[in-house]
Amino acid sequence: MSSDDPRPAPDASPASGWRLLFLRRALRKRCPQCGQGSIFRAYARVADSCAECGLVFRREQGAQTGSMYVSAAVTEVFAALVILVVVALTDWSTTVRIAVGVPLVLVFCYLFLPYSQSLWVAVEYGTDVHNGEDWARPRRRGGA
Ligand SMILES: [Zn+2]
Repeated sequence: MSSDDPRPAPDASPASGWRLLFLRRALRKRCPQCGQGSIFRAYARVADSCAECGLVFRREQGAQTGSMYVSAAVTEVFAALVILVVVALTDWSTTVRIAVGVPLVLVFCYLFLPYSQSLWVAVEYGTDVHNGEDWARPRRRGGA
């Protein structure tokens, strides 16, 4: 890694905070490499690459498939919590429970979608930095 490499050294500390750094940047929907560029070009539309450092976000067909699993798993946990809360804390009829619960889960799913995508970009990036993959090497603006 060169001295102008924006990434933290992979072996900087134990289990090293660098994976957490990538995840923190993902939760801010920022490039996992530089932390500056947006991962998205529009709502839930992952950009091809970072406008700041050139990191390629969409490097192959199906690269975002993992985000669907993240989204599905987290949404299912949220739905289970909604069901538990509604059943445990209300005496609503089944119709009312469905009328309240389904929209809550749908809204959550819509709002969580970009987070699942950015988290997946960070997971892929972290994995590829660890493996020394070429696509994860630092790039200059414009992807050169
Ligand atoms: Zn970047």
